[in-house]
Amino acid sequence: MRILLVEDEEKVSSFVARGLSAERFAVDVALDGQSGLDLATTYHYDLVILDLMLPKLDGSEVLRRIRTQNTHVPVLILTARDAVADKVGNFEAGADDYLTKPFAFAELLVRTKALLRRGPVTRDSVVRVADLELDRLSQQVKRAGQRIELTSKEYSLLEYLVSNAGRVLSRTMIIEHVWDQSFDGVTNIVDVYVRHLRSKVDDPYVQKLIRTVRGVGYTVTKGAPS
Ligand code: CA
Repeated sequence: MRILLVEDEEKVSSFVARGLSAERFAVDVALDGQSGLDLATTYHYDLVILDLMLPKLDGSEVLRRIRTQNTHVPVLILTARDAVADKVGNFEAGADDYLTKPFAFAELLVRTKALLRRGPVTRDSVVRVADLELDRLSQQVKRAGQRIELTSKEYSLLEYLVSNAGRVLSRTMIIEHVWDQSFDGVTNIVDVYVRHLRSKVDDPYVQKLIRTVRGVGYTVTKGAPS
């Protein structure tokens, strides 16, 4: 496993690089944003550990440019900034994890291994089943290219079904996921919402995607009989 570490504080970078090497990772170090970006876009890395406050090119900009060129490498942000706005901004820009300085090497290692286990992730936010398209970022739903307006609960329900296309989801699973575990209403709330959803997503179309599995729950599959 090859890791790129972009960190301008030599004390921190050599300490982290030594620690990771001792764990048998191959580590390349860049001491400024520009050389970090050059390495990240030239070689294949399994993980990039990226400081934010960097000379030549800011870490956020490095992240943004990595994402436009190589969308799959996991990126762990390392920074002294701990403002919520920074975290949100960097997650939106495609960071996978965040560690605030000062940090314990043990925690960096745990997070590094977790990201490596997960591997490259696809960042396409659009999920498709037949001619149904659901964009998890913009929360827009289209069928046969036509925009479909859903309430937020209908959207959550559809997102859950579509993300698990082909898998049968029980009413209990749906309630725990779409509502929350403390929801103590009647389970037929799921049936009610599925009916709403069908009227918008399936009824106007020949091909039905939401299927009832009797006695179990629901599933979304291509071209299933309703
Ligand atoms: Ca720095």
